[in-house]
Amino acid sequence: MDIAIRFLGAAQNVTGSRHLVDAAGARFLVDCGLYQERHLRERNWDPFPVPPKTLDAVLLTHAHLDHCGLLPKLCREGFRGKVYCTPTTAEVARIVLLDSAGLQEEDARYKQKRHAREGRRGPYPEAPLYTTAEARACLGHFTPVRYGQPVCIADGVTAVFRNVGHILGAAWIAVTAEAAGEVRTIVFSGDVGRWDVPILKDPALPDRADYVLVESTYGDRAHPSQREGRDLLAEVVSATARAGGNVVIPSFAIGRTQDLLYHLSGLADEGRIPRAATYVDSPMAISVTEVLERHPEIYDQEMRDRVRRDRSPFDMPGLHFARSTAESKAINSVRSGAVLLAGSGMCTGGRIKHHLAQHLPRPESTILFVGYQAAGTLGREIVEGANPVRIHGCRCPVRARIAQIGGFSAHADRDELLRWLSGLGAPPRRTFVVHGEPETARAFADLVAKRLAHRVTVPQYGERIALD
Ligand code: ZN
Repeated sequence: MDIAIRFLGAAQNVTGSRHLVDAAGARFLVDCGLYQERHLRERNWDPFPVPPKTLDAVLLTHAHLDHCGLLPKLCREGFRGKVYCTPTTAEVARIVLLDSAGLQEEDARYKQKRHAREGRRGPYPEAPLYTTAEARACLGHFTPVRYGQPVCIADGVTAVFRNVGHILGAAWIAVTAEAAGEVRTIVFSGDVGRWDVPILKDPALPDRADYVLVESTYGDRAHPSQREGRDLLAEVVSATARAGGNVVIPSFAIGRTQDLLYHLSGLADEGRIPRAATYVDSPMAISVTEVLERHPEIYDQEMRDRVRRDRSPFDMPGLHFARSTAESKAINSVRSGAVLLAGSGMCTGGRIKHHLAQHLPRPESTILFVGYQAAGTLGREIVEGANPVRIHGCRCPVRARIAQIGGFSAHADRDELLRWLSGLGAPPRRTFVVHGEPETARAFADLVAKRLAHRVTVPQYGERIALD
């Protein structure tokens, strides 16, 4: 059977996930993500390499922007098929894509102004990559499919979504193609989550595959344990309350914010931290929390037990959700004993900047980082000890305590990725390592070849590989 995969993103980098598959006479895309690395963002503007109307379907592993963020552009350029994903992913993707379109529009307006002032043109058009109307139009293509329910995406091609942890709704996908009496199964990992984390079930393991595409974001390292992270969280909240300040946590809206609420409510129940006022100051995080509350079927046993005992972390005592600007501003009057969660997670924009401006100069407050801080972000500057830092054009002195937790990642580490692959009864015919920096992807590929005896390839951007 003729099968070919073209690697259109997340090939020796970690964003822009996009895999074009031709199999059994059908053509489909697995993920259609946005490039987010500064030096690769221009690729978002490239024309799609085949006419989008020739695609039968898109399969979406999860709602992170680097997996779904180019769908509005694909639809505008002529895609007519369905976008299959789990029901929860469809709901979160709606929030993510509308937010992204708003940011694209804002970005275009800013660029137009700046270029007019400087009398020049930028490297790519001054129009938004896509508009809110285009994002809305693309939502009409979404077709929810439950975990474990096979769906026929084209003649002879069936897909099944399985739980992969990571974030709410995320899946790995097994695609089975059948032609002329031959059957082949290709497994796409999406982003693999972790075992024994809050709220979500452990990842399901694939049991057989002819071909595998596996992510490798943390393929060359081990995460610190969750327990260490939880202990540090308890210490920071208690110590800051005693000092008379607030804990400010820059937090991603999807997953991390809800995990933190889970930890905070658990620690308070155990008496390890005072029952502090907790503020979620992010409209997007609030919307994602509501999606999670509507889908108890994706909870793990511990979360189910908590909810049954009337201890849902999302209605713990003292928890406040600030959606409006007025509600957000009111938080400024809370000077001590509170925990504030706001986006963006790397402090590049959003309401967190206001809270940083308030609390960085206060020695009694703590800024607690719980996620990866990329180079070139305000978060990274603060973590690396810059003082003062610039916020909204002003010099802001750093006197607050700066702390960092490493154990709360949503991505599997090296050992967890191997654990996921070890579900396969026999090595696949070929394994492709994607979604990792070049050195990390190669290190993980070597490990998989050595430990699991797979035939492994690290594909290049744009490469088309025919499968045997
Ligand atoms: Zn992801």
